[in-house]
Amino acid sequence: MTFQDLNLHRNILQVLAEENYTEPTPIQQQAIPIILEEDDLVGCAQTGTGKTAAFAIPILNYLHPIVGSKNKRKVIRTLVLAPTRELAHQILDSFDTYGKYMNTKAMVIYGGVNQVPQVQLLKEGVDILIATPGRFLDLHKQRFLDMNHLHHLVIDEADQMLDMGFINDVKKIIKLLPENRQTLLFSATMPVAIRELADQFLKKPKFVSV
Ligand code: AMP
Repeated sequence: MTFQDLNLHRNILQVLAEENYTEPTPIQQQAIPIILEEDDLVGCAQTGTGKTAAFAIPILNYLHPIVGSKNKRKVIRTLVLAPTRELAHQILDSFDTYGKYMNTKAMVIYGGVNQVPQVQLLKEGVDILIATPGRFLDLHKQRFLDMNHLHHLVIDEADQMLDMGFINDVKKIIKLLPENRQTLLFSATMPVAIRELADQFLKKPKFVSV
């Protein structure tokens, strides 16, 4: 299988060619078609398998026609929850790379730093918000996050969220989001608490494992 077979916009194919990605990795081969079909997904995959591109590429493909025109108002359409600021930054880099020829704007918010620059960037408008759970709840409470236009929720490294004690924050956040959304959950392992999270909050998810 090649990326051409996946029906992706040429602006994404262009980046993948420049990055010398010759073919999709197994998680990408399985997950990208499901995400493009707008189904919910549970992906069992470790870091290093190409899982970030497995969700970033189809989300960018979805967003492109929606945020295409330059003067379109920027509202949060994608939320990616990550357990650590390091992972959040890696995810931002992926969205910036794969979305290089698209008009999408991504940013990260995380705790332990002054919120003012983050709030300033939020006010300028973003399509894709990557967040650690605590800072998300903090800024949401202060009414800086309008989630009414959300379409994609990604929960990345869900088992790490659990290990780090963020699972209740994740549940709180999901309850703040529109019901009518597509949810993608990635985890290296599938402990019971993560299966239950998927049962509770995902709609007839497709399962993929690599
Ligand atoms: P991840 O599992 O998302 O942390 O990705 C691991 C690494 O694989 C990243 O450095 C990506 O740039 C790279 N990568 C992702 N997809 C592909 C692909 N299809 N071909 C080659 N490298 C890739």
